[in-house]
Amino acid sequence: MHYLEKFKYCPICGSAHFVENDFKSKRCEDCGFVYYFNAAAAVACIIENEKGELLMCRRACNPAKGTLDIVGGFVDPEESSTHAMVREMMEETGVEIREEELQFLFSIPDIYEYSKLTIHSCDTFFKMTIPSDITLKPQDDVAALMWIKKEDINPDEIGLISIRQAVVRYLSTL
Ligand SMILES: [Zn+2]
Repeated sequence: MHYLEKFKYCPICGSAHFVENDFKSKRCEDCGFVYYFNAAAAVACIIENEKGELLMCRRACNPAKGTLDIVGGFVDPEESSTHAMVREMMEETGVEIREEELQFLFSIPDIYEYSKLTIHSCDTFFKMTIPSDITLKPQDDVAALMWIKKEDINPDEIGLISIRQAVVRYLSTL
């Protein structure tokens, strides 16, 4: 299936002659417009405290509602990956962090269904440490926040595939 199969019409002139150009782009035969399908940039952070526990979230929304997750989300237009992580941290936990505190870990691609579209994301993972007694306010698309000992984390409870892979990869390097 072509990445842009569900995009039937040229968004510039409305023509139905919006055809495959190559594996990741379509071209309008009437006005010449070309559109490339790219991965959506996303960020997430493995947050640890001084006791060696990880901060896990309970997802409030689909996809994977009710499963475990870590703090993160999509990068907005005109935003850097680190700025997105600072913003998501504030939106989901109420904790203010600085971009300089984020250490790059690795990047993992992911695929999931959302609103009848297949979303391809490119997830950048960071790590950082915050104090265990910091006040956490679960909000936005996070139903609950909890500190879990590394040895008690069950990867099967993590719903999003790239997040599960990232946590497993991080724990395996310790
Ligand atoms: Zn067109």
